[in-house]
Parts: sequence; C-alpha cells; structure tokens
Amino acid sequence: MAFFEPMQKATEPRHWLGDMEADHYFYGAGVMGQRFFEALRDEGKLLGSRCERCDWTYVPPRLYCERCFAELKELRDVGLRGRVKAFTVVYVNKQGEPLDPPEVFALIEFGPNITPFLHKLGDAPPERVHVGMVVEAVLKPPAEREGKITDIRYFRPI
Ligand SMILES: [Zn+2]
Repeated sequence: MAFFEPMQKATEPRHWLGDMEADHYFYGAGVMGQRFFEALRDEGKLLGSRCERCDWTYVPPRLYCERCFAELKELRDVGLRGRVKAFTVVYVNKQGEPLDPPEVFALIEFGPNITPFLHKLGDAPPERVHVGMVVEAVLKPPAEREGKITDIRYFRPI
C-alpha cells in the first residue's frame, strides 16, 4: 500500500511495513481558510462564517458549525475592532530565552455570539492590558500583505 493510494477499509492501516513517506507535507488552509486569508490580503477584512441555526459566527470561518454540524456558507465581515476576552504575557521565546519586552497574546471578541480570535497585542504594556479592553487590528500596508495571519501585525488598544 503506497501512501497516496486511497484507503479501502478503515481497518487496513493498523501498521506500516518499511519506510514511511513522511518528509514534505504541505497543509492548505481549507476552503474557508483560503477565503479568510484572501479577504485579509486583498480587502483588509476579517471574515467569519455564520451558522443561521445557532446564531453563532466562527472566526476564522469554518466550513461546518461545530455545534450543529450544518454546512456554513454565509460569510460576514466581523470588523477589525474587538475586546480582549483573556490574555497571557509571554516572558521567554521558544528557546527559553528572555523576551525584552515581554509579548502579550489575547483572545479577542468581535461581538456577541462570535468565537474569540487569538492574536498578539502591540503598543500594549502588559501592566495596562485588561479584560474588556477595546483593541483594533493593525494591518500591514496592502502591498506587503501575503495572505498570512501575520498580515495582521498586532492588535492595539484604542
Ligand atoms: Zn450551528
């Protein structure tokens, strides 16, 4: 069984003989993820997908509602402004070296019935950050955007 052959029975892949082809895998953002990143890059918008049945919006957008499993087709612009729902202060980098200044990451809510969105805060000393603080996305200039989450430089207090 080669790695790219479709599996016929779910019970087949119990073990693997020989070398496993697992070197260079690339993962796409998915249908909704692609639309999210294109809207961010091309229009400077943050999109979410809304479930009409649950009255719940997912940011970034999902293809299916995590509550009722309905297919989600309605995209909405949630804006660039939200409130800090929770935050954490990071004092060391991935290598365990001190960060000076420390970085702040936050869950940002764009409104009621919208999933919070995780991103970095900027222009926000940790001692000034608080739950409920109103923040706004600072985007890269249009010519520098690449369709990546880093097209949002950070969220800053307003
Ligand atoms: Zn739903």
